[in-house]
Amino acid sequence: MNQHTPASGLHCAGLIGYCRAGFEKELAGELDDLAAEAGLIGYVRADPDAAYAVFETFEPTPLGDFGTATDWRRSVFARQLLPWFARIDDLPERDRATPIIAAVKASGQRFSGVVLDTPDTDEAKQRSGFCKRFTEPLTQALEKSGCLRTSRTGLPVLHVMFTSATTAWLAAGQPGQCSTWAMGVPRLRMPSNAPSRSTMKLAEAFMTLLDDSERDSILRAGQRAVDLGAAPGGWTWQLVHRGLRVTAIDNGPLRDTVMATEMVEHLRADGFTWRPPRPVDWMVCDMVEQPSRIASLMAEWVATGRCRYTIFNLKLPMKRRLEAVEQCRELIRKRLASVGPFDLRIKHLYHDREEVTAFLTLKR
Ligand code: SAM
Repeated sequence: MNQHTPASGLHCAGLIGYCRAGFEKELAGELDDLAAEAGLIGYVRADPDAAYAVFETFEPTPLGDFGTATDWRRSVFARQLLPWFARIDDLPERDRATPIIAAVKASGQRFSGVVLDTPDTDEAKQRSGFCKRFTEPLTQALEKSGCLRTSRTGLPVLHVMFTSATTAWLAAGQPGQCSTWAMGVPRLRMPSNAPSRSTMKLAEAFMTLLDDSERDSILRAGQRAVDLGAAPGGWTWQLVHRGLRVTAIDNGPLRDTVMATEMVEHLRADGFTWRPPRPVDWMVCDMVEQPSRIASLMAEWVATGRCRYTIFNLKLPMKRRLEAVEQCRELIRKRLASVGPFDLRIKHLYHDREEVTAFLTLKR
């Protein structure tokens, strides 16, 4: 799934991750673990509500030494994850381009393009207009100075992350390693006839947790699905919209727009004890329950072949969120240890609040 093409020769100063404001501590914990696993020596920095966290190495380190630590899929809480190579403070308001170009030149790296980012905070969003206006002149200036090779595929994309009006972090987005959506957020529109906003969560999960070829090959019209905790029907709507037939389990009512599709069987039953008479392709679950209970139930369905693929939401406690995620991972690992290798992907989606969304399947 991943194509790891390190930018040859680039020396980096660490990792920068973007997250939802309020989740910096969790992201910092993950950056620390990823760096330690890659053998990188340094420290993490994360300010509360800054919407990003940084790992900084003590020494400039060849990008190749970061290994798969730069793969954004490996982090739950990072919407975007990038190796950074320079931080510029005191950018002059009247000429931000010159110091940025100097730092890019000094890196010795060429890039295929440039993207300007800001953290996802109300304060930083006020700079998004400036970022839009500045993209074109900065691109032209970088091209003129020989730092861009827009026709060369395989080169990293230059990310310029403005954490304040005068501070920019320069990072290298490697093909296949980072999110390709602006700020790591897929742009989705709320469908006008969907019954709830949480329909966006499953839509985003399909975009984020599956790659393009998986979306075609494992999510297909004509498949059968179960939706545990389905009411009012936002997730069921997403499945039906893709041509799947759905058994929706919930004591609550489903909206008429969903039932009118005639693709849905609604059963008023307990999602923890109900089991399908025959195996299904997909099971999705958005029941509000203890994350460990949900994780155990998901592992059970997959282990016993009741579903082939599952996407589920884990509601997190306000504190010790990372520990809760790790506990769920461990429960799933234990249950599936004797069954076979599995693929578990967990992400804190843009549409997730105090929760994360996961995909689980056995590897074939
Ligand atoms: N995914 C739904 C949507 O997009 O519209 C929203 C689901 S809502 C967050 C959680 C649902 O889980 C509620 O409708 C609740 O009735 C249901 N639920 C909670 N515990 C359940 C259980 N043990 N069995 C079945 N449904 C349950």
